[in-house]
This record gives sequence, C-alpha cells and structure tokens, in this order.
Amino acid sequence: MSVKRIYSKFLYTLEGGISPLSPGFVDYDQEDGRIVDFGYADDIPEDAEVLDGAVVPGFVNTHCHVELSYMKGLFRRGTGMAGFIDQINELRDVAPLEERLCDISREMDQMWRNGVSAMADISNCDDSFAAKAASPMYTRTFLEVFGTEPEDCDAVMSGVRRLQEKALECGLDAAPTPHACYTMSPELVQASSAAGLESGYLSFHSEETPEEEEMIGKGSGRLWDNRKAAGMSVPPVTGGSSLEYFVDRLAAVKELPIKEHVLLVHEVCMTKEGTELVKKALPGAFVALCPRSNIYIHDALPDVDMLRSSGIPLTIGTDSLSSNDSLDMVAEMYCLQENFPGLSLGELLGWACLNGARFLGKEAVLGSIGIGKKPGLVLVGHISAEGRLTSSSASYRIV
Ligand SMILES: [Zn+2]
Repeated sequence: MSVKRIYSKFLYTLEGGISPLSPGFVDYDQEDGRIVDFGYADDIPEDAEVLDGAVVPGFVNTHCHVELSYMKGLFRRGTGMAGFIDQINELRDVAPLEERLCDISREMDQMWRNGVSAMADISNCDDSFAAKAASPMYTRTFLEVFGTEPEDCDAVMSGVRRLQEKALECGLDAAPTPHACYTMSPELVQASSAAGLESGYLSFHSEETPEEEEMIGKGSGRLWDNRKAAGMSVPPVTGGSSLEYFVDRLAAVKELPIKEHVLLVHEVCMTKEGTELVKKALPGAFVALCPRSNIYIHDALPDVDMLRSSGIPLTIGTDSLSSNDSLDMVAEMYCLQENFPGLSLGELLGWACLNGARFLGKEAVLGSIGIGKKPGLVLVGHISAEGRLTSSSASYRIV
C-alpha cells in the first residue's frame, strides 16, 4: 500500500457532522483511493503543499438525463413546462446517433473529472448504456416510461422490460420508473411504479411546475389544454395536489408506508402538508433539488428553507443539458447558496455527497470521507475566506 497525504485549508469529511476540519489532512491509498486516515492538521511540514480550497468527498448527482446531452443550447428559456415539452417533442432525434454518443461520453468524462463519483440517471433508450458501463462512476439507471393512453400500458411495460434486459446485460443497475403524473395514464404510473419498487428504487418528477398542479387539481391550465388539443387522454382531476395523486397510485400497488427509496425530483410546488404526507406514507423518500433547471424552465425555485426544516433528506441533481447550461454540481450548490443565504457549504455538501449516496444505498463506500471508504476526493477551489462558494468556485477530482 502506498499512502499519500494531502492537506487542505478546509476538509469536509461529512463523517459525524457537516463542519470542516480546518486545516485538515487526509491519507489515502494511491492504488485504489481508499481512505486510510484523516484529521486536523496540527503540524504541517514546511515543504508540504496546503490546498487552497475545500477538499470534499466525490459528488452524487441524483438527477441527470445524460442521454439528452446533444440538446445542449437548443432550448428556449422560460417557456414553462408545456412549452418545454413542445420543444422536447420537436428536438428529439435531431442529432445522428454518433453525435449523441459522442456528447454522452464527453459529459460523462467531464462529470467524472469534476468529481462526480455516482449518479442516478434517467434513460428512455439505450444510448447511454455503453458510456455508463465504461465509466468509473457508479450509476443507477432509471428506465423512465410515459404514455397517456391506458390501452398502451401493457405495450409500454413490455418495451421497458426489454430495455431493462439490455441494461442488465451491460452490467448496469437499472429498473423501470414512472416519468410524471402529467405524461402518464394512472394505469401506467401504477404498473411502472410496481416494477420499480421491486428493485427498491423509484425516481419521479414531482410537483415540478404550477401547470402540473393545475392539471391534476383543477383540470385546467396549459398542460391540460395541450393534452386536450392533441386529443390525448388526461389524468383524473382530484381537487388535490399531484403529489397526493402519486401517493395514491403507489398505495394502489403496495401497502403504505412504502420504505423503498423514492426520489421525488424537483418539488418546486411542495407544501408543508405535502412534506407531512411524504414523511408518513413514504419514509424512504428523498427530494432531489435541481435549481438551475427550475430557473431555466420556469424561473422558480422550491421553498428550500421549508424543505430543509421538514426533515426529508435532500439531494442535488443537475437535470439534463436540455434545461441546463452545464452538468456542474458546484454551480447547483452555488445557485442554492445565493438564493437561500442561510445554507452553509457543509449543509450543501451533505446533500450533494452523503444524502445522494444514501439514496443510492451506497453510503458504506461513497458520500463521505471515512476510513475504509472510497468516495473519491475532490478539490473545490475559489472558496471565500469565510468558507462560502463564490461565482468562481469550481471543482476537480484529485482521486
Ligand atoms: Zn428530469
């Protein structure tokens, strides 16, 4: 074993707390990246380099659609969800396969170099399977389905089961998952949720926009109008939130409370009552924040101060390059810090690293700098003297 020691101004281990060791040291095995020791750096040798910034565990990006990387820069901002879906439909398959594969590999490499050690990634097709299988990054693939017509449910489910076989053949952890209540028949939400829960994991776009809440709650709004105009079926109007509707769909296939890991992505419209429902009905739930995507599509953010006081564990995702300029976890954390100034870097890192690893069931290896773990080590540079992110902050992988 050849052990290397690094010193840094701030060391965020996320073991037993979110405060940094300042200055701190960490020893790791150069062969496999395993953490051997860490602590306060009391006596730093004169010739040692002290990294100017924060050394943190590798990130866990809990919401990405890496297969959409070819859509970078193609979308108009601020169109709302109905406008966004129109654009996705226009732009899908706009690029040839080689270009799409090349863009996926480029973004996977970039994320790895920037310190992403694991990812929960959405796939609608097999474009990204080879790149994910070849990457040193751990990924769990959510094979996402949608379909508004109840009579298509069985065909959609057979299609996604075939896709799952392909993913498993590539050595990926993968299972079906529902997209969102506004693109699916209730039958398909239930069938795909049941299939996903068998694997222990679900990822669901939840309460992303007010248009979704209007559609389910009142049977009105732009998403509702679009669906009607296209002659498609609409989900039932419940008078309640889309989150309640989703929990009811889950309850139809599995007895509550559901302890499997359910990732509720976005939750821009989540209320305090919604958090109470989730804590009772879905004790294994996490909420994935994708702030830059929310601003890109509809210039809104979730009530993060309310969410953090709810006790539901929060994670961070970049979403895709159709609704973001880059797949950059530091940029997401900076966006949250600037909009919710009560957030410390330690708390943000707890979401971006450890909670993401917990969601994926990988906290024994990833997400914190603990002895025997292999989380990856990342330097976040351009930190202010007070230990906060700045507009220049950027990350790169050390190990
Ligand atoms: Zn998404």
